[in-house]
Amino acid sequence: MWGTCCTTMPSTEYLDRKIETASFKEIQKLQQTKLARQLDYLFARSLFYQEKFQAAKIRRRDFRKLADLQRFPFTTKEELRASQAACPPFGKHVAADLDDIVRVHSSTGTTGKPSFVGITRRDLRVWTHITARSFYTQGLRKQDIVIHAAGLTLFVAGLSSKDAIESIGAMFVPIGTGASEKALGAIQLLKATAMHCTPSYAAYFADWVRREAKIEPRTLGLKKLTCGAEPGAGIPAVRAKLQEDWGARVTEGLGNADMAPIIFGECPEQSGMHFNGQEYVLAEVIDPDSGESLALEAGVTGELVYTSLERECVPLLRFRTRDRVTVLGTSCPCGRTGFKLRCIGRTDDMLILLGVNVFPSAVKDVVSSFHPRTTGEIQIVLDAPGPKVAPPLKVTAEYSSAASGLDGLKDEIERKIKATLSVSASVDLVPAGTLPRYEMKGQLVKKAYESKTP
Ligand SMILES: [Zn+2]
Repeated sequence: MWGTCCTTMPSTEYLDRKIETASFKEIQKLQQTKLARQLDYLFARSLFYQEKFQAAKIRRRDFRKLADLQRFPFTTKEELRASQAACPPFGKHVAADLDDIVRVHSSTGTTGKPSFVGITRRDLRVWTHITARSFYTQGLRKQDIVIHAAGLTLFVAGLSSKDAIESIGAMFVPIGTGASEKALGAIQLLKATAMHCTPSYAAYFADWVRREAKIEPRTLGLKKLTCGAEPGAGIPAVRAKLQEDWGARVTEGLGNADMAPIIFGECPEQSGMHFNGQEYVLAEVIDPDSGESLALEAGVTGELVYTSLERECVPLLRFRTRDRVTVLGTSCPCGRTGFKLRCIGRTDDMLILLGVNVFPSAVKDVVSSFHPRTTGEIQIVLDAPGPKVAPPLKVTAEYSSAASGLDGLKDEIERKIKATLSVSASVDLVPAGTLPRYEMKGQLVKKAYESKTP
C-alpha cells in the first residue's frame, strides 16, 4: 500500500535520515548556531575577512540571527585570486596553520589560472560526508561497483569521490579520463553497476563503445550514471538520450571547487538536485544584479551563493559561485526536505540577444529535442566576444545519419528556438560526427573571432 510504504520507508533510503528529512526551520536553527561559531573563527583567524569586515564596518555582534547574514558582504572568485596572488600559495583567506593542511585541490581554472584550495583533516571529513550524502541521494549503495571515469588528480571531485564512494561501502574503480579502453574492460570484467562521469563523457563513451568495440552500450549492464561538473544530465532531451544509450538511470550532482566537491545530488525521482549541505554549508539564491537574497521556493532563478558553516582551512562567507540556478521545489516523494534545483549554466556562459538572456545549454536542449533527426550536438558560433550578441544567434547543429525528412528541419529548429527562448537563430545543419566530441567538459561555444587574424 502506498501510504504504508511511505510511512515505513526503510532507513536505507537515506544516509542521514534525521538531517535529510528535517524541517527547514530545524535546519535553519542548526545553521544559525554553526554560523555563529564559524564567524567567531573568521574574526579570530582569517586575515582576509578581518580586513574585509573592517572595510565594510561589520562587527561580530552584528550577527545575532540567521537573517543578519544578509548584512555581510559577498566574497567573489576575483577576491580569492587576488588574495592568492598577494599571499601565495594559498592566499590571505587561509585560516588554518599550513601544518594542518592534509591535501590540496585546485579549481578547474576555466576563467584564469588555477587557484589552490587546501583542506585540513577535519575539512576532509566534512567534504567526504557531504559528497557521500549526495552520491547516496543519487542512488549509490554498498553493493555498487562504480567506474570513476572523471578526473582524479587536482580535480575537486576526484579523490573526494573516491573517499565518499568508499565511505558508502561501494567499490571505487579509479579509471580517470582519456582511458575508454580501460573503462570498457573494467565494466565488463568487474560487472560494474554504476559510472561517475561528466554527461559529455557519457555521450562520448557511448559512441566510442559502439564504434570501437561494436557493442551496444546498454548491453554492458550499467544501471546508474551519476553525472556532474557541467549542465547536461538535467537537460531533458540529453538525459533521455543518455538513458536510452546506456539503459541506466541518469542523475546529476553539483558542487564547487572552493566550497565542497558535491553539495547537491538528484534522487531517483529525477526532479532536480537536492541540497545536501544542511549542517556544513548554507546556500542562498540571490538576484545577481541587486544582490538581494531570494526566497527558496519553486520557480525562483538566480545565482547560487555559499557560506561555509564548518570549515577550517578556507572558510568562505557568501561566496558567489556564478552558477545560475532555478529552484524546482522544496519537497519530494523521496521524503528529503533539502530544496531541489537545476543549474542552467555559469554566469560567464550567458549570452544576451536584444536584452534576452540565453544559456548555451538551453539551445542544446531545444536542438536535442529533435532527436533522432538531430544527434543533439551543437555549437554556437560567436563572431565577436559576448555576452552581447547581435541577432540572429548562429547555431551549428548535427543531423543524424539516419535522419529522413531533412527538408524543413532547419526551419523547425529555428522556430522552436524562437518560441522557447525568445531569440532568433540561424541554424546551419552539418552531418553527424562533424562537431568535436569532448572527454571532459563539453564546449558549446566556438569563439570564431579568436582564430581571425587582426
Ligand atoms: Zn527526492
